[in-house]
Amino acid sequence: MKCTRCKQEAVMKLKRHNSSFCPECFDIFFSRQVEQAIKKNRMFSREEPVLLGVSGGKDSMSLWFYLHQAGYKAQAVHFDLGMGEYSLRSREIVEGFSKQHQLPLEVIEVKSLINYSIPEVTKKVRNRPSCSVCGMIKRHLLNRYAWDNHFSVYATGHNLDDEAATLLGNILHWQDGYLAHQSPVLPSPHPKMVRKVKPFYTLTEEEIRWYARLHDIPFIAERCPLSKRAKSFHYKEALDFLEEKSPGTKHMFLLGFLERRDRYFASNQEKVELGECSRCGMPTTLEVCSFCRLMERLDSQKERSEENNAHHGSE
Ligand code: SF4
Ligand code: ZN
Repeated sequence: MKCTRCKQEAVMKLKRHNSSFCPECFDIFFSRQVEQAIKKNRMFSREEPVLLGVSGGKDSMSLWFYLHQAGYKAQAVHFDLGMGEYSLRSREIVEGFSKQHQLPLEVIEVKSLINYSIPEVTKKVRNRPSCSVCGMIKRHLLNRYAWDNHFSVYATGHNLDDEAATLLGNILHWQDGYLAHQSPVLPSPHPKMVRKVKPFYTLTEEEIRWYARLHDIPFIAERCPLSKRAKSFHYKEALDFLEEKSPGTKHMFLLGFLERRDRYFASNQEKVELGECSRCGMPTTLEVCSFCRLMERLDSQKERSEENNAHHGSE
């Protein structure tokens, strides 16, 4: 197999591009995709400090490496969610990589900020899916961190497979509001909410896995232990099936949607008025934000169980 660009020995074949690449030419392909995504969507410049969420997974670790070697100013932040062995391993990988390449990293221990680890919270909040609770907590802590540290842009490693799966889910359930806002750039609706960007949104999981392999980028391969029932896995499987039959399907699906989004869904882009939470001061449409309401609920549950224990203890 020969490289489509330089005719040297190729190490991989990318069916959707009908191309084979040697490691050097794959790097050129990869960086063109990322640079185009950044420029076309005006995500950030090389002068602008970018806050980067690193979970320890292949996407965020590869994005960290990419931004660093391409000369961007990335400051990584890792949330230690307190999920036993999984969180220990993730943190170890992220901290080791930061040391190895001398990259700035901040670790935010969820438990030390809110008194509960994520599994402790999700065990108590049984009427909501784990990812919805965990996502809400991370969003809140992240916006607060970005605001306190003067970051205006936050990058994540979401890739084409993630975005196409989200799109499929939103279409299957006709989530017009979500469809109106699905984008590789989520503008900030309030000064205390950081702008979110996804520089890998045109790259597939397979391409990112190749990139990580070629550059010896360490990552945690296991899935988050709480994510088992996430519907997005089924959507990914369905899209993988279609991609196998017809390479390029995911790309056409997502990019085609993004081109048409405003034509079909602009009327659902209503502006919501955001005030500030009376407890924590972060943006919300309510008097007390959902994060603070959750914290109050957990604290009152704890008080009740302590009272019960004291009561039984005194009997
Ligand atoms: Fe949190 Fe769900 Fe992500 Fe796990 S998969 S870290 S529970 S949002
Ligand atoms: Zn609040």
